[in-house]
Amino acid sequence: MHTPIKDRVTTIGKGGRRFWLYPAKFHGLWLKRRQILAAVLILFFFIVPWTKVNGTQTVLLDVAERKFAIFGAVFWPQDLIIFWFYLVGTVILIFLITAQWGRLFCGWACPQTVFLEHVFRRIETWVEGDGNQRRRLDKAPWTLTKVRKKATKYFLFLIVSSHFANTVLCYFVGTDQVINMTFSDPRENWSWFGFMAFVNFLFFVNFTWFREQFCLIACPYGRFQSVLLDGDSMIVGYDYNRGEPRGVLRKKEKRDKGDCIDCNRCVAVCPTGIDIRMGLQMECINCTACMDACDEIMDKINKPRKLIGYTSVASLEGRNRRFFRARTLVYTGLFLALFTVGSVLLVNKSEIIIRMVRPPGASFTLNQSDEITNHFQAKASNKTPEPITLKPSVPEGYELVAALDPWVVPPQETVQNQIFIRKKKDNFSNTGKESLTIRFYDGEAVATEAKITLMGPKP
Ligand code: SF4
Ligand code: SF4
Repeated sequence: MHTPIKDRVTTIGKGGRRFWLYPAKFHGLWLKRRQILAAVLILFFFIVPWTKVNGTQTVLLDVAERKFAIFGAVFWPQDLIIFWFYLVGTVILIFLITAQWGRLFCGWACPQTVFLEHVFRRIETWVEGDGNQRRRLDKAPWTLTKVRKKATKYFLFLIVSSHFANTVLCYFVGTDQVINMTFSDPRENWSWFGFMAFVNFLFFVNFTWFREQFCLIACPYGRFQSVLLDGDSMIVGYDYNRGEPRGVLRKKEKRDKGDCIDCNRCVAVCPTGIDIRMGLQMECINCTACMDACDEIMDKINKPRKLIGYTSVASLEGRNRRFFRARTLVYTGLFLALFTVGSVLLVNKSEIIIRMVRPPGASFTLNQSDEITNHFQAKASNKTPEPITLKPSVPEGYELVAALDPWVVPPQETVQNQIFIRKKKDNFSNTGKESLTIRFYDGEAVATEAKITLMGPKP
């Protein structure tokens, strides 16, 4: 095990060389809790694309069609403003959670941690053994046993990566579409096939080789930590008042030292290779591994647990931890405001949208019967789970002719139509312009309305 240093990222040596980490296996209450949450999150991730709400995939981020579905609510390009409120609101919520509870998300729910610690590391430990066994295996010359173990590990990694890549694809193009693509020739879907292969490759490289470096040098959230945390934020911390001066435990020696017996177990299990006894560090992802490891040691030497535990800088310095601070109140206010506005827009958003535009260059035509005709290209988007049949209606004095009549729009689809509106020239406004509201009926009920401007000749 290498010795953590304070003046640079622990896993990177002076010449830029990487120290490969071999985190040791450990047990504990916090690990059990994290495993339960990880199992729920992993199941959620893999199962959700196979479920539907109101006939639409529960979560679908169809970038190609610019259509997003989340738990039955379908967002189209014109709903992006609602998305914006929820997106910025979520960022503020993350600020709030970080200011209050530190990097809780990193240690408990981040996909990087969940997959690395609860899937890939477990496979690795199962095939190659605990940290020290893995270190010895890596240093050992290539033998048949080493080849077998490495091949088995990478083969299993590849299976998980492929499954992950396929699931990601399900979120972006839809599960039904992925099934179709799976049974068709890859040459018919080159772009999606390439996307899936790319995600598979990224996932495989990330969890096989890049690992903790993602949290240390690539993740922007980790960088934000230094400005979001303050002395009252919850952190995983070492109680130096209780632990220091540390010293190795010797039998038959009268101990006048702190509770830390300098066993280095907390460093051995750390997935980012740091020593939490050096204080709060950017590399700490609050994974609680050192808490479990130290609790095990404390149990063995009959000392109270929580030498390493959830705490705050304020508590460690003997002050009361303040829950309400100016920054948390501002974050809470902003979050509530953004989510309220987003929710009001969501509740009031129209489920049937009509867009009517003139074809390029067209204004109006005047026929021999002195009738003015305005031509519009109309698009109807149906966001409901049921098909609709639209029947346009105009006030008396106008005549409307539609190319598609009846105008049937299947659920979650957009159908284009050509609409012509006629009016006698004698009855047309002498300003050369008229506003008109077209009502669109679905059965007996008005489904939606569209306001347009008609053009005509000026006197
Ligand atoms: S595991 Fe606990 S006792 Fe051992 S070195 Fe870490 S803090 Fe000290
Ligand atoms: S210091 Fe502890 S909580 Fe932080 S990353 Fe290492 S093991 Fe996890």
